[in-house]
Amino acid sequence: MGSSTVVVIGAGQAGCQIASSLREEGFTGRIVLVGAEAHLPYQRPPLSKGHLTGKASRDALWLRPASWFEEQSIEMRTSTRVTHLDTGDRRVLLQNGEALTYDDLVLATGARNRRLRLEGADLEGVLSLRTLDEADEVKARLEQAARVVVVGGGFIGLEVAATAVRLGKHATVVEVADQIMGRVLSGHTAAFLLRAHRARGLEIELTTMVSRIAGVAGRVAAVDTTDGRRFPADLVLVGVGANPNVELAEQAGIELDDGIVVDELLRTSAPHVYAVGDCACAPNPFAGGRRMRLESVQNATAQGRRLAATLAGRPEPFSSVPWFWSDQADIKLQIAGLTTGHTEVVVKGDANSERFSAYCFSQKRLLGVESVNRPADHMAARRLLSGSTSLSPQDVRRDNFDIKRASTGSAPVAP
Ligand code: FAD
Repeated sequence: MGSSTVVVIGAGQAGCQIASSLREEGFTGRIVLVGAEAHLPYQRPPLSKGHLTGKASRDALWLRPASWFEEQSIEMRTSTRVTHLDTGDRRVLLQNGEALTYDDLVLATGARNRRLRLEGADLEGVLSLRTLDEADEVKARLEQAARVVVVGGGFIGLEVAATAVRLGKHATVVEVADQIMGRVLSGHTAAFLLRAHRARGLEIELTTMVSRIAGVAGRVAAVDTTDGRRFPADLVLVGVGANPNVELAEQAGIELDDGIVVDELLRTSAPHVYAVGDCACAPNPFAGGRRMRLESVQNATAQGRRLAATLAGRPEPFSSVPWFWSDQADIKLQIAGLTTGHTEVVVKGDANSERFSAYCFSQKRLLGVESVNRPADHMAARRLLSGSTSLSPQDVRRDNFDIKRASTGSAPVAP
């Protein structure tokens, strides 16, 4: 272990976690962390939240201070893109022509935002948000903007739109589906958030499709929709989802699906090559073993930790309760488990007071819990889902149901 080399491609949440966990696991070999961005590894969640309002300081974004990489003997290469992967010779090529050989290689290349393929998508003032540099641009333009249109009612779009409203801007979200966050939230929670955002002054247009972005002298001026409406805008944020960065794996002939296919030990189809984080499509025990790609900090860090342990000689299948959060205006949404595919929802708490948890079941089995402004429920739900206590819709419907007690296993349900 002392003389082997691990090369990690992608210096984001998962890549940085792998490097740090390898050292915690006692790995004494060479670690090279190669990142295409000019910055040291940073957290992305604040980019669509506190960073835009100035509430989150720039210093708080870094995952590790610069000195840490030196102390840990981790070779951090910023502004360096890996351009080629040769799994036969166990070698990667960097954009500066340098070659690095590896004993084990980790693909932690993340995802990139989808672009709109529409007239006007390249106009000045049409932005996307994934990197710190993009976030700086969104922040600067948001300060100047009066009217903001967000294309796409997903997490990032809604967070930015809610921030724009808080900053006193006129903001509209245009969403093609008939509910916001349609892919990941129950109808109940999505309907609540729709009402809550509208009550705070955010305009949300559902079942509305953008036809083109109109500009004047190269600058964005409005968003046109297929139903003939026009939404004036001096800033347009496109938040229509992301695609995994799979090019290196693809070129090396590694199996792909939606992302880089890995097994339960996070191994790709090529020997000594692993994938973690947003780019990896891994079997998930919380989805009945189905392979899926998750875009969350929890997934990136948990896979990073798990793979580091495997590389350090403690292989175990990846199994970690998925969870996610989103801060929208003054609303804290937290999701434990994977609620997609639920057939029954039991709600505890009161949507009018903006504090509730929605328990999502399939075949009477708890899939996950969506909590709004109820962090204690969320923590208990994570404990519950990681244990063996089962919970039925009837249990949750009882007046004296207490998730904290249920999650400790001492009394699954109050009698
Ligand atoms: P990333 O952190 O994206 O890192 C991948 C890195 O790999 C990038 O820096 C990329 O430049 C680099 N790279 C790619 N190809 C190459 C190459 N060939 N050579 C070198 N480097 C390369 N998750 C939550 O759980 N909660 C939230 O509230 C939340 N908010 C978010 C807000 C925003 C604005 C964004 C963009 C994401 C948010 N997420 C949130 C998602 C979360 O940040 C990601 O799931 C997480 O960063 C994934 O980590 P990763 O390491 O897989 O990818």
